[in-house]
Amino acid sequence: MQQDVIALKINNEIIDLQTAEAKGIESGEPVYFDNSPEALEVIRHSAAHLMAQAIKELYPEAKFYVGPTIENGFYYDLKTDTPITDKDLKNIEKKMKSLAKKKFDITRYEISKEEAREKFKDDELKQAVLDMIPGDTVSIYKQGDFEDLCRGPHVPNTKYLHNIKLQKVSGAYLGGDSKNEMLTRVYGTAFATKEALQEYLKMLEEAAKRDHRKLGTELELWMFDEEVGAGMPIWLPNGALLRANLEKLLYSAHIRREYLPVRGPELLRSHMWKISGHYYNYKENMYFTEIENDDPNKPADEYGIKPMNCLSHVKIFGHKVRSYKELPLRLFEFGTVHRHEKSGVLHGLLRVREFTQDDAHIFCRPDQIEEEVIKVLEFVDSIMERFGFNYEMEISTRPEKSIGSDEIWEKATESLKNALNSLNREYGIDEGGGAFYGPKIDIKITDAIGRKWQCGTIQVDFNLPKRFDITYVDENNERVRPVMIHRAIIGSFERFIAILTEHYAGEFPTFIAPIKAIFVPIAENHIEYAKKLQKELLEADINTEIFASNDSLNKRIRNAEKRKVGYVVIIGDEEVNTQTVAIRDRKKREQYKMTKGEFVEMIKNLSEVKL
Ligand SMILES: [Zn+2]
Ligand SMILES: [Zn+2]
Repeated sequence: MQQDVIALKINNEIIDLQTAEAKGIESGEPVYFDNSPEALEVIRHSAAHLMAQAIKELYPEAKFYVGPTIENGFYYDLKTDTPITDKDLKNIEKKMKSLAKKKFDITRYEISKEEAREKFKDDELKQAVLDMIPGDTVSIYKQGDFEDLCRGPHVPNTKYLHNIKLQKVSGAYLGGDSKNEMLTRVYGTAFATKEALQEYLKMLEEAAKRDHRKLGTELELWMFDEEVGAGMPIWLPNGALLRANLEKLLYSAHIRREYLPVRGPELLRSHMWKISGHYYNYKENMYFTEIENDDPNKPADEYGIKPMNCLSHVKIFGHKVRSYKELPLRLFEFGTVHRHEKSGVLHGLLRVREFTQDDAHIFCRPDQIEEEVIKVLEFVDSIMERFGFNYEMEISTRPEKSIGSDEIWEKATESLKNALNSLNREYGIDEGGGAFYGPKIDIKITDAIGRKWQCGTIQVDFNLPKRFDITYVDENNERVRPVMIHRAIIGSFERFIAILTEHYAGEFPTFIAPIKAIFVPIAENHIEYAKKLQKELLEADINTEIFASNDSLNKRIRNAEKRKVGYVVIIGDEEVNTQTVAIRDRKKREQYKMTKGEFVEMIKNLSEVKL
């Protein structure tokens, strides 16, 4: 069956059928009534108006500000005499569904701005909206008795708006300005089909269970402390072990791929950030301090805490004469950086103010870029495959605020495309999404419940080598400028661990799990045997715990299972006498026995992984 057309797409702009008719537009790419991003945009925005219509019927005094779509849904900012709370959402939703059933045509007409001012003369919110609209004409959309000022796009009829869900109520300042009055913001979502809506709601439920902030606390991985400062994670022993396991894996993976470890300082003189351009392009995200000058007659020097690790690596390249034979030179560092993030966007370990990148800079000849990017892409493959992530890639091109010539930008962008093409990879293009100093490939991974996360980047840079005037000596004994490739694969340990925690729902696979097993001795006289096993594993760099408190056996087993470790190992008379262990295997949901030697071997094998 052919799906209904609900809008047209013309030059990447979605135009609803009402507008197309008014403007005499007949051709365009049809947007069908389905769950495509374009269709959802129209459906969700229309659902915001349906919600406004429902609220207006229930709260006749209600006034509305703006109702845009957002990622995964929509909201509408509004004002009522009786405050709307989460408890009222069910009732509003019910009203919305009954309005959808009435199959109102959604029609559009235009009036002059002056007429609109008159029409909404008692509505200060609409007046505020009118202040923002350019031009002399505005459009009004009408469904049933309800009219709203809007430029669309809207579906043609309320019958397309059955699959809706209102999610929460929060406050929002008028126009996002804290000097203005606080409005009520109601969030919701909508889909074309019931199945898609239900699938999405189920995913949200699952995501809430997996929330890394909740699991981080429950599993005692990390903490935040207001006295220490927002966005500054503190790693508890289990979290630090998890992170160390990840660091060890990645460290050896870099060494085997012929990267050289380096390390730069946390503070660099502002002079350096001025040369790099960060001082002028990135200053608002950096932290600065002062240190006295070596010369007491001179004023103190300003220093910037590094928001990226590149500059020391450039200095390392430049500290001696380099030959073409040394290229490509791959320098890597687990580099800790600080970036100022607004308090509003801080989010568990996903958005923090201090984090450590798996950062590397590859210095090479221009004709080596493609090959090096291919190697990085293969490195990405082996990491993502090990953790069970699918991923997609996107090339970001030149943004408005940028430095460097057109030619340089084009050359760099071409190299990235060539590398992806030669590996037969599909990729998207984000026009204008590049960093100010070069184009890049972004790596976006998909987790176990289908959510996408931005992680690593591969960035070609012709600019920093020039700014710091670094060169190598070529075959003809001439000084030539190298190209620099910045790359991070997991992005940062903080962010990647947050994603891993949600991806695995806290049940980390043995190769990175902080605690690989928990021993539960049945009685006092079984503790020694457990300690022996623990020591043997510790010799192989493997951490385990012994739960030997005064709690009952059952309670200790329950507590051990709450920690989501792969193996809970019960030890009683029989196990000690026969030198065996009784295992509760979390992943297989099974219980079985093994000899002590087999168990130690198994854990060692599972922990020995190479990337
Ligand atoms: Zn609208
Ligand atoms: Zn860099």
